[in-house]
Amino acid sequence: MPAIDFHEPFDVVVLGGGNAALCSAITAARAGCRVIVVEGAPQFYRGGNTRHTRNLRCSHDGTAPTMTGPYAQDEFLDDLYRVTCGQTDKVLAELTIKRSTELIDFMDEQGVRFQPPLGGTLSLGKTNAFFLGGGRGMLNSLYRRAEALGVTVIYDSPVVGLNIADGFFISAVVKREGRQVPIRGKALVAAAGGFEANIEWLKQYWGATADNFLIRGTPYNRGDVLRMLLDADVMAVGDPTQCHAVAIDARAPKFDGGIATRLDSVVFGIMVNRDAQRFYDEGEDTWPKRYAIWGRLVAQQPDQIAYSIIDAKSIRMFMPSIFPAIEAASIGELAVKLKLDPAALEKTVADFNAAVRPGTFDHTQLDGCCTEGLTPPKSHWARKLDTAPYYGYPLRPGITFTYLGVRVNEESRMLLKGGAPSGNMFAAGEIMAGNVLGKGYLAGIGMTIGAVFGRLAGQGAASHASN
Ligand SMILES: Cc1cc2nc3c(=O)[nH]c(=O)nc-3n(C[C@H](O)[C@H](O)[C@H](O)COP(=O)(O)OP(=O)(O)OC[C@H]3O[C@@H](n4cnc5c(N)ncnc54)[C@H](O)[C@@H]3O)c2cc1C
Repeated sequence: MPAIDFHEPFDVVVLGGGNAALCSAITAARAGCRVIVVEGAPQFYRGGNTRHTRNLRCSHDGTAPTMTGPYAQDEFLDDLYRVTCGQTDKVLAELTIKRSTELIDFMDEQGVRFQPPLGGTLSLGKTNAFFLGGGRGMLNSLYRRAEALGVTVIYDSPVVGLNIADGFFISAVVKREGRQVPIRGKALVAAAGGFEANIEWLKQYWGATADNFLIRGTPYNRGDVLRMLLDADVMAVGDPTQCHAVAIDARAPKFDGGIATRLDSVVFGIMVNRDAQRFYDEGEDTWPKRYAIWGRLVAQQPDQIAYSIIDAKSIRMFMPSIFPAIEAASIGELAVKLKLDPAALEKTVADFNAAVRPGTFDHTQLDGCCTEGLTPPKSHWARKLDTAPYYGYPLRPGITFTYLGVRVNEESRMLLKGGAPSGNMFAAGEIMAGNVLGKGYLAGIGMTIGAVFGRLAGQGAASHASN
């Protein structure tokens, strides 16, 4: 491999090595720029949270072979407004959705392949295209393409400093083979993720409870680049406590457990806390619309732990986690195995069973099976827990990514405190997702934001570098 010339400034310096970074790098390289991708992780772990993804959401007219459809831009926008409760930048939200229509063709041109539309219970076949080979397969295609276009990629090279003067990027300082190496560039694209893997930073907002959070993705997204940008007077966006958080198997590793630790059993039974008490309506709405609230709900419980309790009727109705369910012949025995108070769990289950009203169970829609006179209620899919064996899963908050980020405009150009646009600094992906996601989440939109703003940032950086 030829030695890398770090003395000559690059046209575009891209920080990060996931979807947003690669979409930027490819776009800038296609515009004729000399581009470097600076990835903090070792090569095996390249691509941050993007490695764990399975799909991206896009608006389309129904002719794409990868989705059923159509999925109109208005419908996508309605979905986004609903989950964010209107807390989104309207201009950037509309831009995201408009440019999402180009993504399947763009990805296809870079060699990314998709599966046929998804069937089954997730209800995503119309809205989301699934990568063949998952996020890692998709990333491998993007890296191959970037390298073929002449992009320089360096691994194991965390950015430890940024040299910025009056909102203008001059160089990034990278730790490489024990030395600090400055990398100069005419333009910057920051695509180095959120701060979800930085427990100390999370603790500033969540207190000690953050010690019990599990981080679903890469340990490398510690927010170092985000912090440096905010310290250099880039305008912040987003509520620091807002993040995408789901309930995951409590036996998952602290970092990088990925999708295999997610548990979709909640709607089929009851959820109880450490004191064996129910705390929220498990049947409020269909799972894709509600799964992302459970991370926050579990975070609010004592010791940040909860337990999903189901019986033999439901054990085959959901995608299990990679860890086996804890099984017992009775509710009392299950409580002992889960280290819960048996009398308390037996009473909670008995009260729940007594409140269940007869109905026709149908997990594919909002059915009429509900409880009566119970607080909190279970509004749908309420069936008595009466068929042994009984099963339990321990659950903890699983943080996917944080929403505090840098403010950008329609060119994906960073805005400085006071509102002026930076001369040569752009951002894409998680590090600016809070512009679009004020709160809530829509499955697949993380990759949409990364690809749409990655392309915009690459284009903006390239046009600055060539002028
Ligand atoms: C388990 C899981 C499943 C998911 N599934 C989906 C899905 O199916 N669809 C979807 O849309 N979204 C999904 N997401 C969210 C999605 O992963 C993110 O929205 C998306 O990957 C963000 O892309 P990005 O390029 O901004 O960040 P990342 O892909 O996380 O890339 C950030 C990069 O920055 C690097 N980095 C960090 N700090 C530094 C530093 N100091 N110096 C240099 N490099 C640094 C990291 O190593 C990493 O390569 C999922 C997330 C998880 C955790």
